[in-house]
Amino acid sequence: MNEELRIIVWPDPRLKKISEPVKEFTPALRELANRMLELMRQHKGVGLAAPQIGHNIRMFVMNHSGEPNDARVYVNPVLSDPDSDETGEEGCLSLPEINAQIVRHKTLRIQAQDLEGNPIDQTETGYIARIWQHEFDHLNGVLITDRMGLGDRFKNRKTLKELEEKYAAEHPETRSGKSKKKKV
Ligand code: ZN
Repeated sequence: MNEELRIIVWPDPRLKKISEPVKEFTPALRELANRMLELMRQHKGVGLAAPQIGHNIRMFVMNHSGEPNDARVYVNPVLSDPDSDETGEEGCLSLPEINAQIVRHKTLRIQAQDLEGNPIDQTETGYIARIWQHEFDHLNGVLITDRMGLGDRFKNRKTLKELEEKYAAEHPETRSGKSKKKKV
């Protein structure tokens, strides 16, 4: 894999796609996960999903504490057994400078596979469960901009507009197509 991987930024349309399940647990998949962990560390993030580097596959990495031993990789995750809800602040490496209060389930179970295809079955409460939900959302094309309340949308409107303008300037071909694009 010699392509240069970098974190893509909203409103890149690849962030809105539904990602495909991983079927083969290859050395290339492990290499991609390692590169994602590196990028996450470089950008001081606590989680990174594959679509954020332009790979629309169902995998995310995370490290809630920053300690190397706490790095986790989840492939084909499924979330279940939600408990009560709580609100907390979230940011996103694909939405630089944006912060918003997001409601998430407090406790959650995750079933997934590791990089060898072995089953994972864990239950967590609080921050880790929140990261799971944020990263899982990425695999379904959902961002915190889709979940933030009106107050946060208003507070972040200038930054969002700037991100839109930056993207349009870097991708002039998307401009003319904008009006033709169907809303779904
Ligand atoms: Zn994110």
